[in-house]
Amino acid sequence: DVESLADLKKLSVLGHGNGATVYKVRNQKSSSIYALKVLRFDQNAGSIRHQAAREAEILKRVDSEFIVKCHAVFYTIEGEICFVMEHMEGGSLSDALNVHETLSEDVIARVAYRMLKGLQYLHGLRIVHGDIKPSNLLINGKGEVKIADFGVSRIIGTGTGTGMRNGMDSNDGTCAYMSPERVDPERWGGDNNADGFAGDVWSLGVVVLECLVGHYPLIGMGEKPDWAALICAICLGERLEMPEGASMEFRSFVRSCLEKDWKKRGTVEQLLAHPFVNKISPESSSP
Ligand code: ATP
Ligand code: MG
Repeated sequence: DVESLADLKKLSVLGHGNGATVYKVRNQKSSSIYALKVLRFDQNAGSIRHQAAREAEILKRVDSEFIVKCHAVFYTIEGEICFVMEHMEGGSLSDALNVHETLSEDVIARVAYRMLKGLQYLHGLRIVHGDIKPSNLLINGKGEVKIADFGVSRIIGTGTGTGMRNGMDSNDGTCAYMSPERVDPERWGGDNNADGFAGDVWSLGVVVLECLVGHYPLIGMGEKPDWAALICAICLGERLEMPEGASMEFRSFVRSCLEKDWKKRGTVEQLLAHPFVNKISPESSSP
């Protein structure tokens, strides 16, 4: 429905990411509202743009109620890539955590359910998200959480596109939500992990735990979250501290997601059957 960038009028800035600005825009022809993500593309040559174009085609084909819809992609002569996305009025889960500090287990279970359904859909298409974190989980006007930015991270991460970015070249310089096998493939068997689906499950587990404790959960609140501290916490951290008062179901769910050995980690299908989320149906999944 969006035919040209020129039809879109910028109304406000929704947020900034690494190398991107997201605007709220109106299509002046239909008066529909969208979010427009503009990626600056300085260093890259034609090959990356070519790759990006291919990825963008995949992006447009993805259609699920659990994934933020990407309606169109445009390239400007200034070298920007513009994604016309579904506008998510509630902002990101990261914003929600800043406001509410922590969420109740009931709400978290619904969020976890929707994330799992989104991952089930993407994995079914053989797509690894690769960048699950609170700022990439967006909330619509009905309070429903959807997964955003899959593929986008691969587009801007490397020019190779086929595989995953590895831990050290994350575009925003944090590995906070990355799995052990991605941060340290040699030690944690990441090299044999041909597909990387288990990495998305790990990231989901970090997010779910963060929702209950109210801050990044793998290192202490006072600790400086630098590279070394994060890598130690992800790869070497022995015992997972569970928040006091967390239910047995919550503990067991998070433990299964945050199993360091990806071969023993719960799969998306197994986790959808887990008692923490299996009572939830699509109709009841808005918090
Ligand atoms: P990164 O650069 O690592 O992706 P990020 O996810 O914070 O970090 P962006 O994806 O550029 O950066 O998004 C910036 C912010 O814009 C988000 O945190 C969110 O608040 C807002 N935003 C992004 N997409 C949408 C959308 N479709 N609807 C509403 N707000 C959005
Ligand atoms: Mg993002």
